[in-house]
Amino acid sequence: METSQPQRLPPNSELSVQNAQYRMMATYMPHMYVLNIVSALLIAEVFGKVAPPTEVFPILTLLLAIAAYRLSYWLNPRLAETETFRSIQRTVIQAPYYGFAYFALLTYWIGNLLPYGTESQQLLACFYIALASFCAISFNANLPRCVYAVLLGGSVPLVISLVHVGTESALILAALYIANIAVQVIAVRKQNNDFVAAVRMHLIAEASRQDAEMARSDISRVANTDALTGLANRRALLNAISSRAAEDAQGAPFALGLIDLDGFKPVNDLYGHTAGDEVLFTVANRLKLSLGPDTIVARLGGDEFGFILVDPPKDAALLQGIAQLALDSIDKPIALDEGTTHITACCGIARYPDVATAPNELLQRADEALYAAKRSGRGSALIYDQELESRQTRRLLLETRMRASIADRSFDLAFQPIQDLSDNTIVSYEALARWNDPLLGPVSPGEFIPLAEQIGLIGPLSDVLFDRALQEAATWPRGVSLSFNLSPLQIHDPRFALRALATLSKHKMPPDKLIFEVTETALLKDLDRAATVIEQLRHAGIRIALDDFGVGYAGFSYLERLTFDKLKIDRSFVSGMTDDKRKRQIVKAIVEMCHSLDIKCIAEGIENDTELVHLRAIGCDAGQGYLLGRPGPPPLLQADGADVRATA
Ligand code: C2E
Ligand code: CA
Ligand code: CA
Repeated sequence: METSQPQRLPPNSELSVQNAQYRMMATYMPHMYVLNIVSALLIAEVFGKVAPPTEVFPILTLLLAIAAYRLSYWLNPRLAETETFRSIQRTVIQAPYYGFAYFALLTYWIGNLLPYGTESQQLLACFYIALASFCAISFNANLPRCVYAVLLGGSVPLVISLVHVGTESALILAALYIANIAVQVIAVRKQNNDFVAAVRMHLIAEASRQDAEMARSDISRVANTDALTGLANRRALLNAISSRAAEDAQGAPFALGLIDLDGFKPVNDLYGHTAGDEVLFTVANRLKLSLGPDTIVARLGGDEFGFILVDPPKDAALLQGIAQLALDSIDKPIALDEGTTHITACCGIARYPDVATAPNELLQRADEALYAAKRSGRGSALIYDQELESRQTRRLLLETRMRASIADRSFDLAFQPIQDLSDNTIVSYEALARWNDPLLGPVSPGEFIPLAEQIGLIGPLSDVLFDRALQEAATWPRGVSLSFNLSPLQIHDPRFALRALATLSKHKMPPDKLIFEVTETALLKDLDRAATVIEQLRHAGIRIALDDFGVGYAGFSYLERLTFDKLKIDRSFVSGMTDDKRKRQIVKAIVEMCHSLDIKCIAEGIENDTELVHLRAIGCDAGQGYLLGRPGPPPLLQADGADVRATA
């Protein structure tokens, strides 16, 4: 890596030297002209008494006019405001002409006056010119052209006229003058070289300082920018949060938003990483546009983004509206070479200082809000508030208790019958998890199953339940199967089929007595992997039921890709179907579709006779619901499949 900057002069170095010369002139010229005016008046006073006024006053007036004009130029209070590079250059170039004109005129004037004066008056006049030219030379030491102009205009004619006078003292004066001028010219040349060198050194130093600064700002830009999207990166966002949090002592609140894309991985898998990058780039631009130039938008890595909203609206609904707009801006088709894709995102927001007093805490809150938003479904935005905080506390409590309950296997199962609708026999029992925690009381599976999935406890929990369920089902007669629910994680786990088969053989339970239920949404995460697991399970003889049919987002593609043995029509279509013609039509259509695909169709959530009658009428194969049997303790089955307790 190159460490030393090459010494270089900026292209305007000549101008900079002129600028420095100009500054020197601005300092000394007023003094010089004042001195000249005073001296000229004194000479006029001396020679006014002896010489004719026509020889004294016209040229005196001219001299005074030039001096006054230059004085007024240098003393102009607006000089600094009107300065431009051009005016400075002009002044520096013109200065020698003024110098020459003034001194030529002065010498000419004195030359004309000399014959009228006594010898001492003559020497006084010559002395005056000598003094004035010394003065001008030393004031203009940094402007050699001025020095030469003064010499040419003043000194040369002075020496000539001294020689012309010819007296001994005039000649001595001329000799002394020449000697002094010579020494002074040498000194001036040296001084000027030093001066120019100093200016240039300064310029070089300044140029390297600027180079170093640019390099520094380049490094810091790279270190704070996300290379793919050009947005700020995680580091820059964290810095911005920290510095704003420090500023907040002065009271400017802000909101931190975290955004995570929904289903970005399938886009990458389906279209490739270049397309994935294009999607991220497009999302970045849409976010920037939607949130406006005053909002810091960052990409935190992967498909995660973040933003800092300065002075956010107090009203939570408004703040959520802003986030929702940003999410809506993402939720539009994205054209790729490989086709058009569509992506949604979730957003979690936390306000500073309302819900957090330190940057880390704020990040955690926003993250919790994002997590909650993710749980409430694609495209949702959530603000961290009291309610979310209490939900969070409950989650933590549930989590600790769940770990303990898994460890001492204190989960239970309820069994709900599934009936063949043609002959009312029970074809299977669905095992439903139950948790009655000594501290928390009964917790519904609708609450703890999703939580177990989120915190990665569904595997161990399900192992406990599956073992328990098989223990029961192994004793059932051959015609009665066990339906067991699988979580998304299990249906994507390549080792799951083997583990399930091992548990089956441990309980000596034939695989064809087992039905695994999987939901549409569980399949969505990675259809290929799910398909592999399902294939393995079916190959081993285990049947698969598609659960909660109709409420997923998946469309029909997986029905084409995967083979199911059973399909369970979601409760939401069955309940209320008596009074709702459309629901009836939908249920009928699903039943017909199942028959044409050779899939057994089960209606969930049958609660009354009319529903049952109707389902029978349209040829639905099986049913489940409170009407046919509530989830309850393990059935005690006789050899013919009848429940001992039910018949008792
Ligand atoms: P699911 O698989 O759809 O289970 C059926 C749910 O509907 C059960 O709720 C059941 O009690 C309820 N249900 C049955 N008949 C009726 C009815 O006629 N009316 C009404 N209103 N509800 C009825 P539950 O036991 O609360 O389970 C809820 C969900 O939790 C299950 O929905 C399932 O997705 C999940 N779940 C339960 N146990 C397990 C398990 O062991 N493993 C996994 N992965 N998920 C489970
Ligand atoms: Ca189920
Ligand atoms: Ca279901």
